[in-house]
Amino acid sequence: MNTHPLSPPWRGAVLEHESMRKHCSWRAGGAARRYFVPADLADLQTFVAQQEPAAALYVTGLGSNLLVRDGGLAATVVHTHGALSGLQLAGASAPGEMTVEAGVAAPKVARTAARHGLEGAEFLAGIPGTVGGALAMNAGCYGSEIWDHVVAVTTIDAAGILHQRAPADYEVAYRHVRLCAPALAGGLQPLAEWFVAARLRFTPGDGERAGLRIRDLLARRIASQPLQQPNAGSVFRNPPGDHAARLIEAVGLKGQIRGGAQISLRHANFIVNLGSATAADIEDLIAEVQATVAARAGIRLEPEVRIVGDRLQ
Ligand SMILES: Cc1cc2nc3c(=O)[nH]c(=O)nc-3n(C[C@H](O)[C@H](O)[C@H](O)COP(=O)(O)OP(=O)(O)OC[C@H]3O[C@@H](n4cnc5c(N)ncnc54)[C@H](O)[C@@H]3O)c2cc1C
Repeated sequence: MNTHPLSPPWRGAVLEHESMRKHCSWRAGGAARRYFVPADLADLQTFVAQQEPAAALYVTGLGSNLLVRDGGLAATVVHTHGALSGLQLAGASAPGEMTVEAGVAAPKVARTAARHGLEGAEFLAGIPGTVGGALAMNAGCYGSEIWDHVVAVTTIDAAGILHQRAPADYEVAYRHVRLCAPALAGGLQPLAEWFVAARLRFTPGDGERAGLRIRDLLARRIASQPLQQPNAGSVFRNPPGDHAARLIEAVGLKGQIRGGAQISLRHANFIVNLGSATAADIEDLIAEVQATVAARAGIRLEPEVRIVGDRLQ
């Protein structure tokens, strides 16, 4: 890991060939060609604006839904957690609303909401990613999804310009979020955009009751998920009307091992790193599940986790 040799106009740190293993909850995978940790949002704008138009940027949060292949990612990874960290409650002007920057951990939103007498954010307590990652994934559980609570989002484009966007600008579904074409009208090329903040709305109510629900939800997760071993949560989306975990168990793959990766004995839709897993071990296990479930149950399971980068040559 080397710091950038030049003295650039931005304040944050640029690291070269940064191993993504330490930034992904699976604790496996290759390196990012460059890794940028902005000082704050203005610094991120400065950095992005200085990049070549064709430069590949990949924005990440806590890496809790991410696998970088062992050959690495030929892009500049932008790390938001700890950098875009503002959180403000709107107060009397808009009861129940808060503005949260993309790098804030989702559980912090849940705890802050409960502490301020808001209900409805509890589901975020068990999602170990950032608000930006949750917006990108439409993360959710126990019947709630983050986009149910979005009033507006702020994004940054590849030129470093900020945009205010409404939920109507997005196509949002189960673990799916896409900026719609009308938002990009006006003769512009469809630019990539990343989330830098969101205005979220929850329901003014009983904070103590919300706190109890958080405790209950976390207890259920501790009982049902392999939280002692590195993992990335549910690997596959649930197919309509069924559960990926049920299908994986039904075809006899619970406990299956490839190298250092194993289909969790506690929850069959989790793959855990036994200690020495490579990204290839994990991806091979994913492929084995897909092939076996397709052959025996006739269902193609689609990964929920994002897999990026190159395989080792
Ligand atoms: C133990 C465990 C339990 C989990 N439980 C749940 C659950 O109940 N429900 C659920 O939905 N998920 C769950 N997950 C998965 C994961 O926590 C969520 O998908 C989370 O929202 C990912 O956030 P992140 O910051 O870690 O994103 P990352 O893993 O860093 O990134 C995931 C994707 O989002 C993109 N992204 C990240 N930040 C931004 C941004 N600011 N703008 C644009 N794109 C961005 C990345 O490029 C990448 O494609 C779980 C994971 C673990 C490890």
